[in-house]
Order: sequence, then C-alpha cells, then structure tokens
Amino acid sequence: MQDQDIQGLRTWAEVDYEAIRHNLKEIRKLVGDTKIMGIVKADAYGHGASECARVMEEEGVDYFAVACLAEAISLRQSGLKSPILILGWTDPADFDQLVKYDLIQTAVSAAYARELSAYGQRYHSPMKVHVKVDTGMNRTGILFQPEEKRSDELLEVFGLPGLDIQGMFTHFPVSDDLQEESMSFTRRQIGLFREAVQVIKAAGFDPGLLHVQNSYGILNYKDLGMNYCRPGLLYMGVTSDDAVEILSNPDFIPILTLKTRVSMVKDLKPGATVSYGRHYKVSKPVKIASLCIGYADGLPRACSNKELEVLIHGKKARVVGNICMDQCMADVTDIPDVKEGDVAIVIGRDGDQVLSVDAISRMAGTINNETLTRLTARVPRIQAEHK
Ligand SMILES: *Cc1c(COP(=O)(O)O)cnc(C)c1O
Repeated sequence: MQDQDIQGLRTWAEVDYEAIRHNLKEIRKLVGDTKIMGIVKADAYGHGASECARVMEEEGVDYFAVACLAEAISLRQSGLKSPILILGWTDPADFDQLVKYDLIQTAVSAAYARELSAYGQRYHSPMKVHVKVDTGMNRTGILFQPEEKRSDELLEVFGLPGLDIQGMFTHFPVSDDLQEESMSFTRRQIGLFREAVQVIKAAGFDPGLLHVQNSYGILNYKDLGMNYCRPGLLYMGVTSDDAVEILSNPDFIPILTLKTRVSMVKDLKPGATVSYGRHYKVSKPVKIASLCIGYADGLPRACSNKELEVLIHGKKARVVGNICMDQCMADVTDIPDVKEGDVAIVIGRDGDQVLSVDAISRMAGTINNETLTRLTARVPRIQAEHK
C-alpha cells in the first residue's frame, strides 16, 4: 500500500490478501488431505471476492463457491478459470447463464433438479450440478434425515437425464457448539451423509466430490476424509464469535483493518452533550474528535453509548454519543495532539493494541459474518502492506 492509495479517503478497509496464504496453511493443518473450496460469497464477506480468489488460486485452491448467479458471473468476468459452485437458488429463466459462464448449480431440491434436467435435455447441454442433501439444517436440500430418508428422491435425481452431477454435499447448523447434544447432532449428520453416499454408490451412481464442513466444521471436526471443505471466515482469519470455544488451536491472521479519519477536534465543557438524543453528557472538560465513519459505512448504530473504542496514535479512545449515519465522535482527552486528518483504527491493530471485529459484533448483538458483510460499498477496499 502506498500513501497515495489512501489519499483523499475518509474511511477505508485495508485487506492483507497475502495473509490468506498463512491462513490456508493453518486450515490445511486441520483437514489433512481434504482440499479447500474457497467460499467467496457476498464479495468474500466484504473482503473482495476476486482478490481473495486470486491469492487462493496461487495457493492451490482449485474450487470456489458463491451464493448466487450474479456473484458467479462477476467472478468469471474477473478472470477466474476454476470451477465455481452456486450454493443457492438460480431462477430457471437464467439457466442459459449457467451454461454460458460454465457454472455449477446446486440442486436445491428434487423438483429443482427436474427443472435443471429438463433444461439440459432441451438444449442438449448436461447441466453441471452438485446435489445438496439436507441432513438436519432444513434450509435447502433433499431431505435425508432419520425421520425421512428420501433415498427415492436422491436416487431419482442421480438418475435424471440432462444432468452432469459432479458432487454432493450437506451443511451443519451447530458445528460451532461443543455441547454434547450439538456434537451428537453433527456426528449424526455426518453419518447420514455417508449413508446417503452409500445409497448412491450401491445404485451404481458416482456421487462425485463430497464436502460437508464450513469453518466451525473444520475447527471442531478436522479431517473427515471428504474431498473438499468449505471455509469462508477462516481464510479471512476470524471466526464468527470469539467467545465460542473450539476444539483446535489455530493461529489465524485477521486480514481486514478498518480505518477512518478525524475531521475536527473540539473542547467541551461540563454540561455539554454529544450527538443525536443527547445521550452522552460531558461531566468534566473533554476533547472530542469527530470521525468520518457511521452506520452507512457499516459501523452498527447498536454500538452507540457502549464501550466501543477506536485507536488514535496507538491509544484507545472511547466512542461517545450516538453513532450517526456518516460520523461518530470519540473522547480523545487523554491522547495528545489529535488533529484533523489523523487516522483512527476501528478494526485492527497498532503496536500491541488490538481492536477486533468481534468487539463490534458483540455490542451489536450479532456475529462477525454479519459485521463484515455489512461494510458498505462506500468503504473502498485497499490492498494492505503485508507485515
Ligand atoms: C457460507 C457457507 C459456508 C462458509 O461458512 P463459514 O462459516 O464462513 O465457513 C460453507 N457452506 C455453505 C453451504 C455456506 O452457505
């Protein structure tokens, strides 16, 4: 990163794409020979999908997944040649785009697989598909649960003409939870998935590439002997929630730093109040810095009047009063010489001081996945210098 890269910016995110290489190594230590499918949906959770995918490709990641067609097309247009799996639903009216951009579509249900099959037959182009098996998430997929093992539907889908089935997968709802009930639920899902694979094989079909693990599935269940695992957050160097215990001790580097600038500094006397609602009342003489970041940049308004801090000159300053749409204010009384144009770190580190995205998520009552994906388009993403 050069000084000119941030010149003129009021708020920006510096993303250390090089650190992804380290994070992938940490993931590989956990999953053994299981290959990595890079989950780059939602613009890689706001980190920049094509940039993340490019570094991962250099590190040998040869499969990627997104949530929807538009994300897949945008990745193809950025030049990515590897297979791209769409995890969610694509409107059948857009099936021609799957062919045009050489994309792999998830069969989200048996009915949907029939629609893909009909299209593939009509246009004589087998549709590339991964079959989603629902072992307990009850979101999408062909139900294969203790109460309802739909071997009939699974077998029907694998027998459909016009489909080129290249893989089969399932998803975990509680792989993050170490309580016995959750762990046995996840283990049962893994068992059901293996059973479904056997059903397919016994009928003479090839289930293709098998993958079941999201980030917590990797951290807590390690090497399950599948073909691929599906980390999103982990290669970005964070987990959903730092308070959640995990059964491994990886050493990840968070790749995103969020920075803003001071627009002005003023002295306030006791009795003054700061921001909308006048919730912060000044009780002793203070120095208040206004910052160029608000909830329209992705700093949740729910963090207002809590213990949120930013780093200025390597020291922590408390955010006071309501967070506005485009600005917020911080108490810099104890930090000498703060002035217009100074940089404030909202997420990231300066020396031994660290501000994690987790603190923001906790105050906002959410998880890091949401905080990161909600950084808005107004915040430019810039390649950070790798330290
Ligand atoms: C989003 C998603 C993932 C990645 O989840 P992380 O918790 O970020 O690792 C994996 N699989 C599916 C099906 C997903 O939708």
